[in-house]
Amino acid sequence: MAGQGLPRYRASQLLRRLWVSPIGAWAEATELPAALRAELDRAMPVPHLHSDVVQQSADGTRKYLWRLSDGEAIESVLIPSGSRRTLCISSQAGCALRCSFCATGRMGYRRNLTPFEIAGQVREIILQTPEDKPTNIVFMGMGEPLLNWSAVDVALSILNQPDGLGIGARHITVSTVGILPGMQALAKRPEQFRLAISLHATTTAQRLGIMPIEKKYELAGVLRAAEAFRKRVTFEYVMIAGTNDADADADRLVALARRLGALVNILPLHPGGAPDLTPTTAVDIRRFAGRLRNQGIEVAVRRSRGLDIQAACGQLRVEVERKRKTPAATEGRSS
Ligand code: SAH
Repeated sequence: MAGQGLPRYRASQLLRRLWVSPIGAWAEATELPAALRAELDRAMPVPHLHSDVVQQSADGTRKYLWRLSDGEAIESVLIPSGSRRTLCISSQAGCALRCSFCATGRMGYRRNLTPFEIAGQVREIILQTPEDKPTNIVFMGMGEPLLNWSAVDVALSILNQPDGLGIGARHITVSTVGILPGMQALAKRPEQFRLAISLHATTTAQRLGIMPIEKKYELAGVLRAAEAFRKRVTFEYVMIAGTNDADADADRLVALARRLGALVNILPLHPGGAPDLTPTTAVDIRRFAGRLRNQGIEVAVRRSRGLDIQAACGQLRVEVERKRKTPAATEGRSS
């Protein structure tokens, strides 16, 4: 603005229209002079994530597939629950980690998202329906946020700051397999952002079987970094039958959670992410959770949401691309 010989306050006006009260195009920013609006739309149009597919689940969960300017596709999932609306956002297109149960891992790594593409997932939803503005954000969509730290670092500021989206730091959770340099960088931020660790196993041998990252960042080191975080962490634990759901697993999980004062989030395995793995039954999940609770651990068993809309990490993109490649064949099979 200064370069154009315009007053500096114009810059804050533009920033406001990106995040605080978003607009789809500068033409809508009627507080600006008409000539400036036209010039802005010509010289630097408001960027967008193009809404490709929106799926509504019977349970209220809504899944968005966004098309990026280079044709990549990413997903967000909006999960309403009482007065809370949690948005699960992506930090990368695809993912390099290849966890055995995860659909995103199967498609491999495509690229890092920019800060705008990360925070823009929230922005587009507000643009579509302002009442849908999320109250909580979780980095549990596609990708590993701490392998894209430089962009996630900026996106966290946009999500949190009052001249950004203004979502409280305690309501923003970064979920990671345990990328040590990223955990250290996140720990340095002064805000109370939350950290969730995708643990899924209680020994190195067991974790190696389902999460190849264990070769690079071992469980013991991840737990030490989580201790150094000095804020309460959450363990994510996806329940896979015959793999990590025995009583001995529960007892080891108790010891780890106790050591860190961690909260445990039990996730039922979403079958779409892993056709070759068997989800632990609801009865066995209850038993496992009960065993943790009886030993004084705080446990939440997550309901599997959006089962009818492929809402597990990465599934919608896989599904849409499969259908678009072989429309006739998949129509028959999916009925
Ligand atoms: N890379 C980050 C964030 C993305 S995944 C991480 O791993 O934490 C978000 C969560 O969804 C992780 O805990 C992941 O393990 C879990 N997840 C992936 N596929 C799943 C599936 N098929 N069923 C249940 N949870 C799954």
